Amino acid sequence: MPGKSLQRYALVPDQIWDGTADQPLSNTAVVVDETLVDAVIPLKELPTDLERVTLEGCTLIPGLIDAHVHYSPVMGAAMLAGGVTTIRDVGNDLEWIINQRSINGTHGALGPTILCCGHLHDGPEVYWPRMGWANPTPSALRSSIQRHASAGVNAIKLYDGLTPDLFAVAVDESHKHNLFVTAHLVKTSIEEAAAVGVDGVEHLSRCDVAWREAEDEEDDILIDILLKHGVSLDPTIVVWDRLGRIMEHAFTKDRRREWVHPTHLYIWDNYRTRLDSPDSRRRQQISIGYLKRFLRRANEAGLTIGLGTDTPFPHLVPGFSVHDELAMYVDAGFTPVDALRSATSVNARILGVQSTLGQIAPGMVADLVAMNGNPLERIDDVGNVEMVIRSGELLSRGYLLEITRDSFGEGPVDPVTQDLLEVTDAGPKTE
Ligand SMILES: [Zn+2]
Repeated sequence: MPGKSLQRYALVPDQIWDGTADQPLSNTAVVVDETLVDAVIPLKELPTDLERVTLEGCTLIPGLIDAHVHYSPVMGAAMLAGGVTTIRDVGNDLEWIINQRSINGTHGALGPTILCCGHLHDGPEVYWPRMGWANPTPSALRSSIQRHASAGVNAIKLYDGLTPDLFAVAVDESHKHNLFVTAHLVKTSIEEAAAVGVDGVEHLSRCDVAWREAEDEEDDILIDILLKHGVSLDPTIVVWDRLGRIMEHAFTKDRRREWVHPTHLYIWDNYRTRLDSPDSRRRQQISIGYLKRFLRRANEAGLTIGLGTDTPFPHLVPGFSVHDELAMYVDAGFTPVDALRSATSVNARILGVQSTLGQIAPGMVADLVAMNGNPLERIDDVGNVEMVIRSGELLSRGYLLEITRDSFGEGPVDPVTQDLLEVTDAGPKTE
C-alpha cells in the first residue's frame, strides 16, 4: 500500500499540541488541504461532509526536526517512521546532498525535507575525505564558501581543523552571503568563536566548563557569553553518550535496529571507538552527567537550544534517535514541553524555516505526527508513532517499514556511508 493522498481532510486526534503552547488543545481538529494546514478548529465546527482521519488515543504534534544529521538515503523512511519530517544535514558531499535535497523535495515518502550545509569546512587537512573539505588558506576558504553559497546551501558548517584566524574568515564570508554558521569547535574556543559571530555550536564542543564538575558561577560566565552573542546550542548529547557506551550490550539488542541498514549496523558494531581504552570510554560516560547539568542551566537562563543527534553514528537509529535525545533533555531537567519545543518550533527558528515548519497553524506545511499517549506528560510516548503526515500525505508505519526493508537489498554507496566504512575498517586510531 502506498502513502495515502487525500486532497482535503480533517485529522481528529485526542489532543493537539501546536509546537509552542504550554498546553495542548482538545476537542479540536486540524484541516489539511493538499500540502498545507488549512485550519485548526473546534470539532463542533467541522463540516460533516469532510473526510475524517480519527486518531484515537493520540496526540498530534508538528513533525519533528533533527538539526544534526549526515544523510544517507537508507535512513529516509526510518526517519519518517520516527516522526522526523525535516532534517538539517551538517556535513556531506556538496553536490550529492544538493541533489538529494531535491529528490526528497519531490518524493516526500522517501524521506524528510532536507536542509543542508554541504561539505564540512575543515582546516588544511580533512578528517573525513568525502564529507570534509580542506581549506589550506584564507582565500581557499572564502572561495569554498562562495561555491557553497552559489550552490544554494541553507547554512555553513565549520569543522575541527579551523584555527581562530581561519575561523574568523569563514564566519565573515558566510555572513556576507547571509548564511547561518554552525560549528564543531576543536582548535577555536567557544569564546573566540562567539566573539567573531558564530551563530550556533554543535555538540557543546569547546564549551569546556560544560564537560566537567563546575560551580554555577563558572557555568554562568559561559552562558552569559552565549547569550550576549546570540549563539544557539545543538547539544547532541545522545551521540556522546552512545560513543561512550558503545560496548553496552543493551544497544545491540535494541529492537529498533530493524530500521537500520545492515551496512550501518556493521559500522556500529565495528566502529573504531570500540578499540579506545576503557579509561577513555569511562571519562566519556562520566562527562554525560556534567553536560546534562550545563544544558539544564543554559535552558533556565533562556539560551536558544535546538535538538540534533548526529545520526548515523553508532547506536543512533534514524528518526528514533530524536526520541532518545528528547529523553536526555527531560532527564537533564527540561519539562517535556520544553524538550519538544526544541525539536519543533525552536529548531525551525534556528534553521530559518519558522514561517513554514515547526508549528501547527493555518498556512504551515502539513508535516505532522500522531503518537499514542501524551508525550507532553510522558516523553517516552513520543516513540509510539501511529501516523506520520508528510506534506499532507498520510504515511503508515507499516508502509514505511516496507520501504525500509526494500532498501536493504542494495549496499548504500553514498558519501557518508563510505566515509564511515573507511574509518571503521581502518582499525585503531593512530594519533
Ligand atoms: Zn556530525
